[in-house]
Amino acid sequence: MRVVTLIPGDGIGPEITEAVKSIFEAAQVPVQWEEENAGQTTFDSKGELIPQSLIDSLERNRVGLKGPITTPVGKGFKSINVQLRQKFDLYQNVRPACTTPGIQTKFEGVDLVLFRENTEGLYSGLETYDERLGIADSTNRITVAGCEKITRAAFAYARKHGRKKVTVVHKANILKMAGTLMLNAAKKAQAEFPEIEMDDKIIDNMCMQLVIKPEQFDVVVTSNLFGDILSDICAGLVGGLGVVSGANIGDDMAIFEAVHGSAPDIAGQGKANPTAMLRSGIMMLHHLDMHHHATRITNALNKTLLNKEQCTGDLGGKAKTMEFADHIIRNL
Ligand code: NAD
Repeated sequence: MRVVTLIPGDGIGPEITEAVKSIFEAAQVPVQWEEENAGQTTFDSKGELIPQSLIDSLERNRVGLKGPITTPVGKGFKSINVQLRQKFDLYQNVRPACTTPGIQTKFEGVDLVLFRENTEGLYSGLETYDERLGIADSTNRITVAGCEKITRAAFAYARKHGRKKVTVVHKANILKMAGTLMLNAAKKAQAEFPEIEMDDKIIDNMCMQLVIKPEQFDVVVTSNLFGDILSDICAGLVGGLGVVSGANIGDDMAIFEAVHGSAPDIAGQGKANPTAMLRSGIMMLHHLDMHHHATRITNALNKTLLNKEQCTGDLGGKAKTMEFADHIIRNL
């Protein structure tokens, strides 16, 4: 039995977490949950956004599954997601995007994995504002070590999963320093993985290519801000934020997460689609080498997705969150 830290989150978080727990239980997955929350709910009850007990639990278990978290708007509230990624050096944000039969999309045959650098760049938290001059500076700090780690991770993933090509996305034509570091790091990484093809695209062209011919991409690697934007474009290509998974991975810890937000507009109504959270849980099972359980749940989910009626409203169905989960359980 493997102990995993479970962070239900805010808004629809507890509802989709409940659905995933029931599916894992029915599939007899050998995972024991250690529940610790973070975010608005925790702030309201305990006066802190990230309790020490959550940090301790993650440090103990080294693996977590996280629902969406509401970071209160306003000065002094740093994003909880960014804090967790930086605290535990979870430098890889891994976001697979794959078309699934049953989920209506504009494109067929999308099957790519995006690697986003997760701790540096414009999300480093290096910002100043000079009120007198009315000037705000946000520092785009990129390091050689950070670029080398994320590009190497992308190539290593490509080799491990039999993928053929890594596309590096940058803006080296304008951001001469920062963009060039990423490009050079990728060239260095490729020398170690010569069987994997490499090409590069400038970020603006990449956005256009993705919405014209997304099937040309295999593994994609980029910096933090570009990755943040590209990952949502990729989600849109394959059915939206309700169906894509994500992982924050470091050298000795990983937190898997539903990448959508806490959806306050539908919270508590049983309308939330649990697919993104479930797929993140499936990624976690692969990470824990529980491939048999991961495949079994994937097959049951894919079978359920073929029957629209059994899915939630965002997928064109009528089922409530737990009804959708029950259909998946029946298909196990
Ligand atoms: P959101 O992703 O919560 O919602 C956008 C739209 O998508 C809404 O209409 C919502 O109903 C719908 N939606 C999202 N997930 C869904 C699901 N699983 N099933 C069905 N519909 C779904 O984005 P937002 O409204 O911009 O953000 C709300 C809150 O979430 C904010 O406080 C924000 O800070 C937070 N947030 C957290 C994360 C995270 O924890 N990873 C990510 C993004 C936003």
